[in-house]
Amino acid sequence: MYDVKSHLREVLSQLPQGVRLVAISKYHPNEYIEAAYAEGQRIFGESHEQELRQKHEQLPQDIEWHFIGHLQTNKVKYIVPYVTMIEAVDSLKLLREINKQSEKCGRVVKVLLELHIAEESTKYGLTLDACRELLEGGEWRDMKHVQICGLMMMASFVDDQEQIRREMQTAADFFDEVKARYFADDDAFCERSWGMSDDYKIACETRSTMVRIGTAIFGPRVY
Ligand SMILES: *Cc1c(COP(=O)(O)O)cnc(C)c1O
Repeated sequence: MYDVKSHLREVLSQLPQGVRLVAISKYHPNEYIEAAYAEGQRIFGESHEQELRQKHEQLPQDIEWHFIGHLQTNKVKYIVPYVTMIEAVDSLKLLREINKQSEKCGRVVKVLLELHIAEESTKYGLTLDACRELLEGGEWRDMKHVQICGLMMMASFVDDQEQIRREMQTAADFFDEVKARYFADDDAFCERSWGMSDDYKIACETRSTMVRIGTAIFGPRVY
């Protein structure tokens, strides 16, 4: 088996204080997650509803599951009963559905708004203007069953480190803008989720609070 434990320790040793690790376990078997769990890791991220449902049923109940993928509104009801955070909210429609389903099960689900800053058109997420528009609209203020905890983004998949840094810095600056304008009195709005296996060091330098790392811990994914 891949040496999950030593790779996890290596990654953790690189993270500054105040940066939490979401171990991205998609496509990896339960035994890999159990190895990381045995090292004390409790936050794991998955991007497919069915895979997450199975893992949630089979693995320890004190794992905090983050849904990190693109979420279709018709899948929301399946994950809301147990998920801790939905990281990639990219529309008002999705936010409404999460609120509706969370209310049905008497929960408050934490969410992040996903920004589209990368130049690639393949990425999901709200443009900065779309995000401003969503927040300015104010409907979210009446949603008692979602708690908006911050922003999430993926940098472009490129070798150019300066481009990655620019994109993450744009996200960090935008965080300050919306924090001041909409969440100044809301301590829960504090998360900046960026940084993956190849760019988490830059993310730590651009004020990430939450890195999402898969390959560097669990090895290459087998699809
Ligand atoms: C898969 C995935 C990651 C982790 O990617 P690695 O390169 O394996 O670290 C992080 N964030 C999202 C949204 C992902 O889909």
